[in-house]
Amino acid sequence: MSLVGSLEDLGLGEILQIVSLSGKSGVLFIRSPQGEGRIVFDRGAIRGARVGEGPRDLRTLLLATGALPEDDLEALHGEAQAAGIGLEEILVARTALDAKRWRALAPPVAAAESARLAATLHGWLTTVERERPPFVVVATEASAQLALGGLLLSFRIDRVDALADGGAAIIDYKSGRVPAPSKWFAARPSGTQMGLYALARKDAAPDVSLRAAAYAQLKAGDVAVGGLAADADAWPALRTPAEARSVNLATWADVERFWRERYGALAAAFRAGDAAVLPRDAQACRYCDLQPVCRVQALDDAPRESEDDDRDGA
Ligand code: SF4
Repeated sequence: MSLVGSLEDLGLGEILQIVSLSGKSGVLFIRSPQGEGRIVFDRGAIRGARVGEGPRDLRTLLLATGALPEDDLEALHGEAQAAGIGLEEILVARTALDAKRWRALAPPVAAAESARLAATLHGWLTTVERERPPFVVVATEASAQLALGGLLLSFRIDRVDALADGGAAIIDYKSGRVPAPSKWFAARPSGTQMGLYALARKDAAPDVSLRAAAYAQLKAGDVAVGGLAADADAWPALRTPAEARSVNLATWADVERFWRERYGALAAAFRAGDAAVLPRDAQACRYCDLQPVCRVQALDDAPRESEDDDRDGA
């Protein structure tokens, strides 16, 4: 089904709200004598925006095309400036949330949360995504399964990107600090999601090369990306295994081999009943659902130093 019409009939703001609240996916093309733009939606949420020939920023494009009334646009622009965020973030914040839940929030809470989310998203888009080579988001919350060490594991991968020059990247969103790649390959690894997701993708689509695996650190005031890339062109902000000396693996093939062997051995040990009360660090216990029935508090030698802020189990 497609929606075609003139912005004289329906304002852009209303169209954004309709698409957001209906949870539709697709691309909204905006054409005018001044140029073309497009906004990409995934289940109602804005996933990206692009301007073709013509005005190079969203405010200029919207003004030039008359997509939003000038007064409304200036008001939104003023709000964005006062909050220190981009205009696009105001549009996202106003359209991407479920209206019922949004209305249930007390106005001061909604305003503060809106500003926090917008600032975090702005930081992610401008400092990480905009700096990347071209890519297309091809899947979000993608279901995946992996048979490993006698276990059948099921996942939902936050995001999969197709890279313009071939291959794919997987991304996992974290609201706290992300585990450094060196910890993915430790004797007691953390950040195991990346390896498991990578193996699941490889088994499901052996012909599509995975060229990057990254954690998106969407932490207010500390937005960052961390991970590994198979080569320098895939995602220049990430290091290749050869560049990341702490990883101690030379190539992406070595990385995948390590994941399959080490994580496979952990899965097999778990399946065989190896369940020693030996948490990797105190952080593992902090987010564990088994605390009420666990004997760890009775052990004198359980580690108590926090090493990172991720939520992997022991
Ligand atoms: S089962 Fe949970 S609480 Fe017990 S040691 Fe492991 S991580 Fe800690």
